[in-house]
Amino acid sequence: MNNESSRHEGGSLLIIGAGPGGYQAAAYAAKNGLTVTIIEEEHAGGTCLNCGCIPTKALCHDAENPTDFSAAMARKDAIVSQLRSGVEQLMQMPGITFVRGHGSLQADGSVKVQTSDGEEIIKADNILIATGSRAKLPPIPGIALPGVVTSTELLAIDHVPTRLCIVGAGVIGLELAGVFAAYGSEVTVIEFMKECLPQMDSDIAKRLRKQLEKRGITFYMGAGVKSLTPNPSPVGEGSVVLFEQKGKELSVEADIVLIATGRKPNTEGLNLEAAGIATDSRGFIPVDDDFRVLSNGEKESLPLRGGLEGSLFAIGDVNGRQMLAHAAEAQAHRVVNHILGRKDGLRLDIMPAAVFTTPEVACVGPTEEQLKAENRDFIVHKATFRANGRALCIDETEGLVKLITDTDDHLIAAHIMGPHAADLVQEVTAYITLGATLQQLRETIHIHPTLSEVLIEVN
Ligand SMILES: Cc1cc2nc3c(=O)[nH]c(=O)nc-3n(C[C@H](O)[C@H](O)[C@H](O)COP(=O)(O)OP(=O)(O)OC[C@H]3O[C@@H](n4cnc5c(N)ncnc54)[C@H](O)[C@@H]3O)c2cc1C
Repeated sequence: MNNESSRHEGGSLLIIGAGPGGYQAAAYAAKNGLTVTIIEEEHAGGTCLNCGCIPTKALCHDAENPTDFSAAMARKDAIVSQLRSGVEQLMQMPGITFVRGHGSLQADGSVKVQTSDGEEIIKADNILIATGSRAKLPPIPGIALPGVVTSTELLAIDHVPTRLCIVGAGVIGLELAGVFAAYGSEVTVIEFMKECLPQMDSDIAKRLRKQLEKRGITFYMGAGVKSLTPNPSPVGEGSVVLFEQKGKELSVEADIVLIATGRKPNTEGLNLEAAGIATDSRGFIPVDDDFRVLSNGEKESLPLRGGLEGSLFAIGDVNGRQMLAHAAEAQAHRVVNHILGRKDGLRLDIMPAAVFTTPEVACVGPTEEQLKAENRDFIVHKATFRANGRALCIDETEGLVKLITDTDDHLIAAHIMGPHAADLVQEVTAYITLGATLQQLRETIHIHPTLSEVLIEVN
């Protein structure tokens, strides 16, 4: 291996981390003439492909008609390895050097890579940190007990736990609650906030919780976990989860406890201090709107060490802006365009998101609560799936559509629970991005019978 990455006419880019942010940046940069080195210490594809979006969605799909859990896990593993080898192949394209190892910053602006063969120092014109995140474990007594797991371990489990307790009713907690309830686990979800999915429209979040309750999941909302103790009964490696709700102490026995209380950035071992970078109060790497690293979380970047200012970037989960795979990918394109001196039209402020439970939930744009807090005038237009022909045909009529417009009829948000909510929100995202009105959406012909007709049936 070269001690210094070769410099191409278009310049060089060194990327740490090959998740969706890192590998998309590598492919796009190489296609556009940059010489790319990408360093990955685990598997190409990162969290999303190996222990995030893809394995969960494979299981969510099988859980719609659950049969054999082992077969579902095997199908999930096959999908992951198929996609992973696709990304590995992509990283072999001309212009990209893939290095397996651990990357860390050096005070002189270079990157040290620790590989199984030893150490290597690489220099590049631009450096991109795309090291992602991992599950954050709250400081609860007993958190290290056997049988207390994160989503990564639960996605690799070889059996259906009889009793599964999930701490945290965010996206990850709810998707996995749905999966394991479908396969027969007795699922209890304990959440500190008063409603699940606090980022989402509260009406939709409440309706989803009610639907999941109908599927047998028990929720304790506004409840704080105090401790986990070994289960006195001899069932596997179980625990007793002690929690407080409305001043009352309650407990749940579980064979497996999933901690799904959020994610923390992978910054340990990056040697950020060497470059003069201090993380923000939540531990994320502070960046400006072009994802250039700011040295100390201030608005203006102070000089980074090693001549890195203006050429050190951080994208994806590690900057904490929008912890979604497609956000990481969009940020990757923005950074490479910036390096290439190109302006792009990417609207990073219009970021759709989905929860792949049954029923599905998805959203784009601000919630009513956020709009009210900003004193903005808006109109909410609603529809249900009950009269939608396709929803009746596929027997999935539960749900609600809320489209939000400004007072000039411009679409600004969509919040949907129902069949294929993510695809429906995707359509509205296109209209919002193009600055369209609800009238323009209504005047677009929709195929009959489709779920998308529900969008033009709003009041
Ligand atoms: C269970 C679960 C389900 C999810 N479902 C969805 C979903 O449906 N849709 C969605 O949009 N998002 C989903 N997410 C979130 C999504 O996975 C992340 O937002 C996305 O993976 C972030 O991409 P990234 O490139 O920033 O980082 P990551 O995907 O985390 O990749 C970072 C990579 O960097 C490597 N790395 C870290 N440090 C170093 C180092 N020092 N040297 C070398 N390599 C290093 C890591 O090994 C990793 O491969 C889910 C997450 C989880 C946990």
